[in-house]
Amino acid sequence: MENYTKIAPQKGASFTMKKGEILTVIDPLGMQVSDMVLFNRHDTKEKLSSGKTLDFEESILITKGNFLWSNRSHKMMEIIEDTNGRNDFLLAPCSPETFQIMYNNHEEHPSCLNNLRENLSEYGIALDDIPTAFNIFMNVQFDSNGKISVLPPTSTAGDYVKFRAEMDLIVCLTACSAEDSNGGSFKPIHFLVSDEAQNVF
Ligand SMILES: [Zn+2]
Repeated sequence: MENYTKIAPQKGASFTMKKGEILTVIDPLGMQVSDMVLFNRHDTKEKLSSGKTLDFEESILITKGNFLWSNRSHKMMEIIEDTNGRNDFLLAPCSPETFQIMYNNHEEHPSCLNNLRENLSEYGIALDDIPTAFNIFMNVQFDSNGKISVLPPTSTAGDYVKFRAEMDLIVCLTACSAEDSNGGSFKPIHFLVSDEAQNVF
């Protein structure tokens, strides 16, 4: 099926979903991260919360069968399929400062945070309102001492994650702009919103 929406490399997209609808996020070429943030469509002060999700799901690895929770302790989405199985919910979206601090790159550089801000402004959501994103396909490893390393995604071409909306939502997705998170190259992300009955995968 070709009816998915395409996010160009190092870009983003925002859209709304109704409770019960299914979002499929696809890595069409492999090894590409997509940052996702969620807001309650009717009250944008309610938003995705990493802390609540890791707490209530009792895991730092969030995949099929887990819920994504809001800062007000409500379920926002359920992950109903995950063909790759590795996502991150620890690290903040890459920002201009990420490239200055982590990469010592002081040139202009695209970032997830800027793409989230640009695509969410039409909903009245400002930079400081953007929470820690759910980083689909991101491969963050940690050892028993807590040392973190960002490795290339394990996703291969065509891997996808499916989410069911548990409330009416504003969703923003990116095709991540950070070299280390994406195996050194930038690829597109595809997505599709459908009713359960029209499920294409
Ligand atoms: Zn990013």
